[in-house]
Amino acid sequence: MHYLDNAATTKPPETVCQAVLRAMTENFGNPSSLHGLGVGAEKILDESRAVVGAQLGFSPEETYFTSCATESSNAIILGAAENYGKRKKTVVTTAVEHPATARPVEKLEKNGFKVVRVNPDKDGKFTAESIASAVDEDTFLVSCMLVNNETGYILPAAEAFRRIKKRFPDCITHCDAVQGFLKTDTRDLSKTADCVSVSGHKVGAPKGIGAACIKKGVRIAPLLLGGGQERGFRSGTESVPLIAGFGAAVKLWAENAELYRKNAFALRERLRERLAAMPEVVINSGDDCSPFINSISAAGLKAEVLLHFLEARGVYVSSGSACSKGKKSSVLKAFGLPEKLLDSTIRASFSADTALSDIDALADGLQAALSQLCRVR
Ligand code: PLP
Repeated sequence: MHYLDNAATTKPPETVCQAVLRAMTENFGNPSSLHGLGVGAEKILDESRAVVGAQLGFSPEETYFTSCATESSNAIILGAAENYGKRKKTVVTTAVEHPATARPVEKLEKNGFKVVRVNPDKDGKFTAESIASAVDEDTFLVSCMLVNNETGYILPAAEAFRRIKKRFPDCITHCDAVQGFLKTDTRDLSKTADCVSVSGHKVGAPKGIGAACIKKGVRIAPLLLGGGQERGFRSGTESVPLIAGFGAAVKLWAENAELYRKNAFALRERLRERLAAMPEVVINSGDDCSPFINSISAAGLKAEVLLHFLEARGVYVSSGSACSKGKKSSVLKAFGLPEKLLDSTIRASFSADTALSDIDALADGLQAALSQLCRVR
């Protein structure tokens, strides 16, 4: 199998599975219980919290576990509006956000807030100033992703936040760092972002676990009310096994981050070399993109047909973005992809264990698709 859909989700490594199993068999207590089993479970939360927070520059006290990054972003955006959206009424975001940000922002818009969506320029790029200059005195929240999930484009979120904070120190800055977490160095993100959302399953943790980092002093109204877990931010008994897996995955990745990044650059190079021989195929992701995500258009081939053709050869990619489930991507459109290529775009995304042989399998598959599928077109 050649799995190249790691921006959708990753395969948990053995050490992560072991950590999950241990938490289910040996540390199955409720972390809120006062007896020894509870204390053991709580220790797992503390350790994972410190590991995850540190990779984003936040303290353990500023790091809260959630069920996924979608929950984190919803809680932050809607919770910020509840507390800061009484006097100020504007939210600034970008036109290329993941639905986890775009949908809660739309909800605010429906409820009377003004939303400014910054578009990339004609070359599909953002500048920090294009984002920062959209903010004014009425803006209480700016939400900008770090790495786009469909193209891998790295947005200048931190620099935009720095400029915004200089002019409007009270404006809350939120970053969806899901696709940049560990894949770029995110340890300084807390210097400019008040709030950050990340997901475990993009970096080898199980699905169903994420984190919201919220700077001390920033007041985000909780989405879930109940027993007051996660210091009141997120009630509900914590999923100790998933949090154990999250901590183990982040620890493993952090220890090898340089190696994984180097590997991703080498994979991207190989992909570029191999696809250069196919004039019908273009890689939309340039040098200003994360090497872990590569958007590829094959003119004349339908993405879904291509995806299944590749799958039959054991190569797994996604069409555009897994989350858009076959719909024409408004994000690729915003990035300036020609209309006729929107339907012909797949995404190949890498992880820690992706090898050159996976890239070769993809390239061979694309070559075969071009000669076989194009013949019957
Ligand atoms: N943000 C980005 C950029 C993503 O790519 C994803 C998932 O693909 C999410 C948010 C949502 O993450 P989760 O699956 O943890 O809700």
